[in-house]
Amino acid sequence: MSVTALCQFDPRMRCTMRSGIRYALQTVAGASGMPERLMGRRDGATILMYHSVAQPDLARWIDPRNHMPPDCFASQMRFLARRRRVVALDALVEELESGRRIQPGTVVLTFDDGYLDNLEVAAEVLDRLDLPATLFLPTGVIDRGENQWVDRLYSMFRARTHHVLEILGQAHDLAADARSAYLALCRRLLEATADQREDMLRSVQEQLEPHSEPPRLTLTWDEIRSLASGPFSIQSHGVDHLDLRSHASLALDESARSRDRILAEVGHVPRHFSFPYGRSCAAARDAIRRAGYRSAVSDTPLCQIEAGVDRWAMPRVEAPASTARLAFLTSGIGRPYPRTVDHPAHPPVHAEQSP
Ligand SMILES: [Zn+2]
Repeated sequence: MSVTALCQFDPRMRCTMRSGIRYALQTVAGASGMPERLMGRRDGATILMYHSVAQPDLARWIDPRNHMPPDCFASQMRFLARRRRVVALDALVEELESGRRIQPGTVVLTFDDGYLDNLEVAAEVLDRLDLPATLFLPTGVIDRGENQWVDRLYSMFRARTHHVLEILGQAHDLAADARSAYLALCRRLLEATADQREDMLRSVQEQLEPHSEPPRLTLTWDEIRSLASGPFSIQSHGVDHLDLRSHASLALDESARSRDRILAEVGHVPRHFSFPYGRSCAAARDAIRRAGYRSAVSDTPLCQIEAGVDRWAMPRVEAPASTARLAFLTSGIGRPYPRTVDHPAHPPVHAEQSP
């Protein structure tokens, strides 16, 4: 099977030669059963990151980088329930704090952003298999009942009725190349303040005049409370989903206000924080610690959580679409493919799935 064919198993990934070869080797290694034979040799845990697991009718409004098909998700959960030790994030952090041994093959499941399908699809699968998970919420997005900005932009591009876009001093002909314009805008929106982001999205909306609006894709607080009584632990992803590496001075306010909103709506103080886009810096991590959190997940070149890890910069692995690769990445013997990117939490969108 060619490298290109293997890469097509995971459409969220751009197939460069180097990442393609690593991807192929990891997939083959995972399918061979090799990780299971070697796994017991190395202590440690893997924190997996998921976003949307929507059914096709909603998935068409969601940037493919943030989506995994429900059948693929269910198959991964069955594999993890059978072959790995899945624990809650709280349990892993307690093991790290106490210096206890972290068993090989330990896995923590996390979901970012508060997608409605976490209730409609994921909760039933997790419940049935008795798997705990953590839901990291951007509380301002929930309060306003908004879809994620990246999906709002994606939907505007997909449903556009005009193909010329002038923004930030640049003119784009979307009929010729929508993908480059989309990725360039994603980069700018990622680093923007909340006000700048809204101004840009409003301008795109006015110029592209999309013929239809996406449905609600985000959970409400009532729905979140129902998840909190099931398999999900509700934790913080800030207020406005800001890049706290670019805006470190806002980290204390973002972490404190989101903590207070979760306490008011769900009834407990969140203990764990997820840096939006995985972006953090020393000042932002210090702010999260001062706001009273016990841990944070962030983007690092590491894959495995081991004793002595910085608890305010714990690495996560974006769940791959292939269960064979999942077997490899959660065995503690591998590293994920390097992220080539502009959007650190997610590899660039595949060419065929451009908006
Ligand atoms: Zn996020």
